[in-house]
Amino acid sequence: MKVEYLVIHHSFTKDGLVVDWKAIRDYHINTNGWDDIGYHYGIEKVNGDYVIISGRSEDTNGAHTKEQGMNSKSLGICVIGNYDLGEPDKRAFDLLVILCVGLCKKYKLTADKIRTHHEYANYKTCPGSKFPMDKLRNEADRMLKEG
Ligand SMILES: [Zn+2]
Repeated sequence: MKVEYLVIHHSFTKDGLVVDWKAIRDYHINTNGWDDIGYHYGIEKVNGDYVIISGRSEDTNGAHTKEQGMNSKSLGICVIGNYDLGEPDKRAFDLLVILCVGLCKKYKLTADKIRTHHEYANYKTCPGSKFPMDKLRNEADRMLKEG
């Protein structure tokens, strides 16, 4: 897979006390019949602190944005939580910026290649109507230009 974009998602579920990533992964495998969770990375709060969790390997097509062939040209990143209800926690957001900047550097992408699921599937608000997407692109852009 040639990575041309990063696509940001939310889980649309409340971030619980336990590892919700596992429940999502189980659902994708057992209910959807997929080989693995549909996303390449996730961000969630585990034992009181936010962590980046790996999903599918980066060289495997995703199963997160079927529109416009995006699964074969983007990495899917899911921030656990429902961001129709409010903005993500600052620590989750900061971790997402770091993850995106690292991936942009690795694949030589500019910050405008960080997209939302909603941009391809306008029937969804994913990653949430309150998600600060402009802020994400602006901060990533600033960090990429600093080098
Ligand atoms: Zn989504």
